Amino acid sequence: MSLRVAVVGGGPAGSCAAEVLAKAGIETYLFERKLDNAKPCGGAIPLCMVDEFQLPEEIIDRKVRRMKMISPSNHEVNIAVERDHEYIGMTRREILDGFLRKRAEELGAKVINAVVIDIEVPKNPDDTSQPYAINYSLKGKGTDTPDRLGSLEVDLVIGAGGFYCKVAEAIDAGDYNYAIAFQERIRIPDDKMAYYEDLAEMYVGNDVSSDFYAWVFPKSDHVSVGTGTMKVNKADIKKLQQGIRERAAEKIRGGEVIKVEAHPIPEHPRPRRVVGRAALVGDSAGYVTKSSGEGIYFAAKSGRMCAETIVELSKNGERIPTEKDLKVYLKRWDRQYGLTYKVLDILQRVFYASDATREAFVEMCDDPDVQKLTFDSYLYKTVVPANPIKQLKITAKTIGSLLRGNALAP
Ligand SMILES: Cc1cc2nc3c(=O)[nH]c(=O)nc-3n(C[C@H](O)[C@H](O)[C@H](O)COP(=O)(O)OP(=O)(O)OC[C@H]3O[C@@H](n4cnc5c(N)ncnc54)[C@H](O)[C@@H]3O)c2cc1C
Repeated sequence: MSLRVAVVGGGPAGSCAAEVLAKAGIETYLFERKLDNAKPCGGAIPLCMVDEFQLPEEIIDRKVRRMKMISPSNHEVNIAVERDHEYIGMTRREILDGFLRKRAEELGAKVINAVVIDIEVPKNPDDTSQPYAINYSLKGKGTDTPDRLGSLEVDLVIGAGGFYCKVAEAIDAGDYNYAIAFQERIRIPDDKMAYYEDLAEMYVGNDVSSDFYAWVFPKSDHVSVGTGTMKVNKADIKKLQQGIRERAAEKIRGGEVIKVEAHPIPEHPRPRRVVGRAALVGDSAGYVTKSSGEGIYFAAKSGRMCAETIVELSKNGERIPTEKDLKVYLKRWDRQYGLTYKVLDILQRVFYASDATREAFVEMCDDPDVQKLTFDSYLYKTVVPANPIKQLKITAKTIGSLLRGNALAP
């Protein structure tokens, strides 16, 4: 037999899953509703992703080597990468996603440009002879070839549709809390763009976000200026966006808004990420980290990890994996990244809680040991433990900064 897998959603999570499956010779269908989709996103990726996913240089708009953290009282801390070859990659999602999808297609995945409308789940998913049916509306090419309906039977389904994922809906994966992020792409004059050549900015403060941070990220010919806040404060999002525009006013003066984007960001994993023979990956599963709001790498990584588990446990497509098999992917994921999510959650709760703790956070980032720890864990996704003396110093610094924060806050 040959295993048939449908991957619903052609973002980083879906394409990276499809690539692994197709490479192993498994019959793989990758559904994407919009082939030139520009997912609303800051587009920042860690250095390790470039290597691990063999991304070519041309799909990276800018290499950011410096980061400016700006506190509520406008105290600035400059951080730079340590080694010459290090950088944070700034991408445009339409380019990155297009590249990953094309690569999966070249390796044998069948890309279907269609909107998945619903998924019929078999009555008894344990009975592997009962297929899942993917019902979709195939994109037409204008009036001569209008949209038409189709249906495809498969043995396994990977839900990679992001926040609004049809697979999550079909398997009743449960809800998650979310933040809402808003972003404007602004084309600024050349001299202003030169300032952002290899620099990204991160602003904190009640005026720009009640519980997160705001950013100015450089792209090829514009900057992305945005902010995020939790669902409970979502009515404030436009006011917060105005806040970041005002804080960065001098640096973006004369700019022209070329695109306005908004999208929800999941705050934690869904209650059920594998049900029957369906598994969720990326935003659909809820894999964005707190504190940094990072999700691209984790989407790509989870897609890959889920697919690798399927290839392994299906013996390269010779047998149909069961729910128990698919849950091996969850165990592996939680073992590898569970702690990272917990630590970043605690950091967000402690440091983004008030203007006083935000002042403390920025002040702490002035410390070279804190900088190294932060950059290394972001760029390489490995938490390199500091030696005990350094750990003590960082702890003392944290306490001192938290105490001083009250005095510094506006
Ligand atoms: C404003 C903003 C800024 C962000 N900035 C960053 C950042 O700088 N760095 C970072 O790492 N992360 C960032 N994130 C998070 C990041 O965007 C997500 O974590 C990431 O896109 C998740 O990838 P994914 O493949 O899981 O889902 P998505 O990227 O959402 O991809 C899902 C895909 O599925 C398709 N799809 C959905 N439903 C259907 C359907 N029914 N039929 C067919 N196709 C369908 C969609 O068209 C889409 O292409 C940001 C998020 C926001 C909102």
